[in-house]
Amino acid sequence: MSNNKRLRTDFLLNILKRDYLNLNCLCLSSIENTLIEFQSVLIIAPHPDDEVIGCGGCIQFLRNNNCNVTVLFCTQESYRSISPAKCNDTLPRQKEAMSVADEFGYNVIFINAPECLLKNNEEYENLKINIAKCLKNTLFDTIFLPYYDDLHPDHRYCFKSIVELLLSQKINISSTSIYVYEVWKPVKKANRKLLLNNDMYDNKIKAMKYYTTQLQTVDYVQLIEEANKMRGEKAEFFEEVEISELLSYV
Ligand SMILES: [Zn+2]
Repeated sequence: MSNNKRLRTDFLLNILKRDYLNLNCLCLSSIENTLIEFQSVLIIAPHPDDEVIGCGGCIQFLRNNNCNVTVLFCTQESYRSISPAKCNDTLPRQKEAMSVADEFGYNVIFINAPECLLKNNEEYENLKINIAKCLKNTLFDTIFLPYYDDLHPDHRYCFKSIVELLLSQKINISSTSIYVYEVWKPVKKANRKLLLNNDMYDNKIKAMKYYTTQLQTVDYVQLIEEANKMRGEKAEFFEEVEISELLSYV
């Protein structure tokens, strides 16, 4: 592993360790019986690879139970998120996302908002308009959202945009709850979990390895493994939030 990659990976690992310290993982009920009920699920990914890191096992579980899954990617890759050597290719990170979707059998939507610029009000409003346009006339059972307190601002703004669209009824879902998943910070109020068997876990790692553009700069596979160790089990963690309580989250 190159020195720079090692340094970046260790930097992220240390942040993860700090956040996982003192985390209370007790009393989490399984999400399996809820997932089985769903026929159509939308997953919001701020960036290509978040869907694998936060929901890779969950997507497999849903697909194994014949649920239709759609992943909506909010931002477009930028010079920041892929190595300069790859920048001349046509959207390599997007292609990787499509390869993972083929592997697991789900639909993808790309919104292509600019990465790291969602704090800009105009970009944020455009994101909302474009998401609403794409999801008009589509009814999902529920939505999986990135964590509202994640380290990455794109994750926080993507959460906020979907909540605002839900509250203004520009997106409609049939369930009374949504689910928050974790990527670079443990979800503090997690109340549901999905245990991953060896097959699911191995497939999740395999899916992550499709993202070669990302693995060039950080060892995300190691980060997934370490996060599972810190949690004490191979699992994915979610906070189930009632729609009626969403107003207090934005
Ligand atoms: Zn992300």
